[in-house]
Amino acid sequence: MSQQGYVAAPPYSQAQPGMGAYQGGFGSGPTQPLYGHYGGPPQAFSAPPAGMMKSSVAPAASMPLSPGSSQYNPNVQQNGSHPQSYPAPPAVSAPYGQPPHSLYNSMASPGPPPTQQLTNQMSSMNLGSHVQGLQSPPPPASSVVQQPFQTPPPSTMAPPQMPPGLQSPHMSPLMSPPQSPPASMPMASQSMAGTSMAGMGRPFPGPPPPGPGGFQQPGLGSAGQPGYPQQAGQFGGYMAGPQQNMPGAFPGAQSAMAGPPQKKLDPDSIPSITHVIEDDQVKQGGQVFTTNIRGQVPPLVTTDFTVTDQGNASPRFIRCTTYSLPCTADLAKQCQVPLAAIIKPFASLPKNETPLYVVNHGDTGPVRCNRCKAYMCPYMQFIDGGRRYQCGFCNCVNEVPVFYFQHLDHMGRRVDFYERPELSLGSYEFVATLDYCKNNKPPNPPAYIFMIDVSYNNIKSGLVKLICDELKTLLEKLPREEGMETSAIKVGFVTYNKVLHFYNVKSALAQPQMMVVSDTAEMFVPLLDGFLVNYQDSRAVIYNLLDQIPDMFADTAESETVFAPVIQAGVEAFKAAECSGKLFIFQSSMPTAEAPGKLKNRDDKKLVNTDKEKTLFQPQKGVYEQLSKDCVASGCCVDLFLFPSQYTDIATMADVPSHTGGSVYKYSNFQIETDGEHFLRDLRKDVQKSIGFDAIMRVRTSTGFRATDFFGGIYMNNTTDVEMAAVDCDNGVTVEFKHDDTLSEESGALMQCALLYTTIGGQRRLRIHNLSLNCSSQLSELYKSCETDSLINFFAKSAYRAILNQPLKNVREILVNQTAHMLACYRKNCASPSAASQLILPDAMKVFPVYMNSLMKTAPLVGSTELSTDDRAHQRLSVMAMGVEDTQLLLYPRLIPLHNIDVNSEKPATPVRCSEERLTDSGIFLLENGQSMFLWLGQASSPDLIQSLFNLPSLAHLQGHMCALPELDNPLSRKVRSIISGLLEKRSNSMKLQIVRQKDKPEMLFRQFLVEDKGLHGGASYMDFLCYVHREIRQLLT
Ligand SMILES: [Zn+2]
Repeated sequence: MSQQGYVAAPPYSQAQPGMGAYQGGFGSGPTQPLYGHYGGPPQAFSAPPAGMMKSSVAPAASMPLSPGSSQYNPNVQQNGSHPQSYPAPPAVSAPYGQPPHSLYNSMASPGPPPTQQLTNQMSSMNLGSHVQGLQSPPPPASSVVQQPFQTPPPSTMAPPQMPPGLQSPHMSPLMSPPQSPPASMPMASQSMAGTSMAGMGRPFPGPPPPGPGGFQQPGLGSAGQPGYPQQAGQFGGYMAGPQQNMPGAFPGAQSAMAGPPQKKLDPDSIPSITHVIEDDQVKQGGQVFTTNIRGQVPPLVTTDFTVTDQGNASPRFIRCTTYSLPCTADLAKQCQVPLAAIIKPFASLPKNETPLYVVNHGDTGPVRCNRCKAYMCPYMQFIDGGRRYQCGFCNCVNEVPVFYFQHLDHMGRRVDFYERPELSLGSYEFVATLDYCKNNKPPNPPAYIFMIDVSYNNIKSGLVKLICDELKTLLEKLPREEGMETSAIKVGFVTYNKVLHFYNVKSALAQPQMMVVSDTAEMFVPLLDGFLVNYQDSRAVIYNLLDQIPDMFADTAESETVFAPVIQAGVEAFKAAECSGKLFIFQSSMPTAEAPGKLKNRDDKKLVNTDKEKTLFQPQKGVYEQLSKDCVASGCCVDLFLFPSQYTDIATMADVPSHTGGSVYKYSNFQIETDGEHFLRDLRKDVQKSIGFDAIMRVRTSTGFRATDFFGGIYMNNTTDVEMAAVDCDNGVTVEFKHDDTLSEESGALMQCALLYTTIGGQRRLRIHNLSLNCSSQLSELYKSCETDSLINFFAKSAYRAILNQPLKNVREILVNQTAHMLACYRKNCASPSAASQLILPDAMKVFPVYMNSLMKTAPLVGSTELSTDDRAHQRLSVMAMGVEDTQLLLYPRLIPLHNIDVNSEKPATPVRCSEERLTDSGIFLLENGQSMFLWLGQASSPDLIQSLFNLPSLAHLQGHMCALPELDNPLSRKVRSIISGLLEKRSNSMKLQIVRQKDKPEMLFRQFLVEDKGLHGGASYMDFLCYVHREIRQLLT
């Protein structure tokens, strides 16, 4: 590894200029106060919290214990009650046994012009010549994609063949029969998991190519494997079959499409997400994934597996777009595969996995590299008899502090290797010293403030009463520190319309007291003592208050509200109480009352599909910008529950939540009967989430590459410190990496994510996640180690950010170009030579086009005036904070057939592909994507099924607005209800169950989630998109 790059530009050793909140971030040495700017005089050291023992010198030398039996020494605290031992390593880590790539033949289109074209392409790309022909990819694509989203691509990017004006390809794919299907694409059963949000979109800059359409099953190719159902009967011969319905599909393209009709491409023959998910589940489901191997590709997010930490962070915490980085920047540029990690620092772990250990080094704090400030971890190499260690990140040789000295065994490993989590594990926590605390004082426990809009709409709908009633039970369930009997979180209450009402709920009071602040321009908190209280102590007064609130405002006529002053009040309250925490704001409408942050309706559908469309996504500057800053500096996270009946400028109202790690929930036209339970499920999940406050995250890397960009519910004052007022178990931060030197195959690439935060109990901690990746000078290694689900998370976030500054059309073009480029580069450099007409995809990326096409059909990326501006802005912001599981599900929903379900089986029902073709008139299907859930009833559903599920004689008796299945005592009803409740339990958000009958009007809502079909608001079918991408690839290769 080159030292020079480091010396020339130390990646992380220096505090960045302009670092605001934390002087020197927590990158500076522990001897200096890290909260310099808070200015308070350092306080005397106060005793560490109970149970935190000062570290002692490690026990006398002894042979290291095996991983299966090791025990940590007493200064290691466990988060949970799990046994202090490592589970035995799995017998075998699941091999990646798939063929290197899947092979698809594109079929020659029957029409004369396309055939001609294809022939030309084929002749220029035959075995001998195609590699040579590819030495340099066409400049337009590469130049555009190299700088994704920086500049609009030149208009020349649009393929010349495409007639202008066409929105999406809607030709039927054509195909010729396969000679023999590839093994990697079984055709029989479909399973899948996924989610898509809104199926819509205009994927391509121009219309689809008139030319050669579909794909055929490959010939044998490398993917040809036994066990694949034969299709011979279905497809009699190569190129057989008449072309259907082509003429007229594209204006101007008729002639191209004229010709002998052809058989339609069998959808089963193109790569299927449900198959990929099912295969991985079969191969790796139920197994243990041990993290002891560098660059190991984990099972898919959809696979059910168990993780054993043996030196690298669990994939639940960090996933990467590839686990083998290219050695040089040139290689990275050549393939254009983004190098990124998606970090979920607070991811929930299943019960059978060990919670993170907490290491306490007392007042010396964690051991860190003197130069780059990386924390002690398995990548530190001890030398010189254990007296010194070399940092794996910057190579600096450090003295081992006296208290930390330990002898090395004959392998050169510290004898306390297995006793110290920071030497042997990928993830662990350190107790932070006062140097890591604001004003050098231990933090106070966080507080939750419930701020209820009591204007006319919320009172009339019954919402205020619903919230107040719920809080009585919900507050009993506030999250608490492991081992504690009660929650340390304080609670406070505010109601508001045009003015704010604060409540004194001190336990000594017989009645709560209200204090009104009507000067919303100069917000202050009128009371300190008694506003933020311990719920247990003040339960009686709080009950009293919650009973009274709905009555107090029952006759209100006030319909105007403020919003920014409400957030400001929360910030002021936290400042006064010297704590961090979360605001739960329940707001009905856009704030139009005269006050800071007043908004007006700026929705304008005429901007859709113009260069100004981006302004619909941009928040209003000014008040909210400053509020975000204030919130982050105070550790104030904002959750917004919106109940709008019209446009509310979510782009602006959600600005503060989206910079503070908060969530925005939207219940349009809220009705208590149909939406009440749905909202309460969200509220309950949100209040009870595991969460950390006042967080700051730094990602360090070994020399040669570094983190350059960050996407998430975050705030950044400088280029390296990721600030989050709060981070919960669902927040994912996507980090992009770039080379700044050559990486070494031998040493690989290391990253360390360090998150400084305050626990719900008020402890300051450092959570460390380490991950080591491979490096290779062979692009084939990179493609083999790619993770499609992570890639699409990165693309979704980067595209959703790009639309703030660029026309949507450009962003979509870049997405398509980069897709084609990544796949063309694989074809050129990694695939065995084959005919140009074959579409060859890297095995690990074979379903990437499905996701990409689905992404381009999501509401934010589709230029359609039929979509609500608020919905588009809302989805854009939600996705920015998602982890890999959530984007996967959003972009490929689960479609589960229920009509033929085995009611006695414990196995989860197997999903099918998200396409209309999978529906049957007599079928009943459940569809969900983590945000929406539908029960679709075919018009010919059996009356028996309807009777069992609804207790109705037929579909015709079904009344609208049903939002839950009745509780009926029969096996089918129980089974279906348990599937639904299982999904609601598992997902991070609640979903409202919408019941739709085939051919009824609301069915349209459901259809937009069938992401393999043509988009309802524009956007290609999967098949057409694949054809289009294939054409682009061939262009790049010529
Ligand atoms: Zn270092």
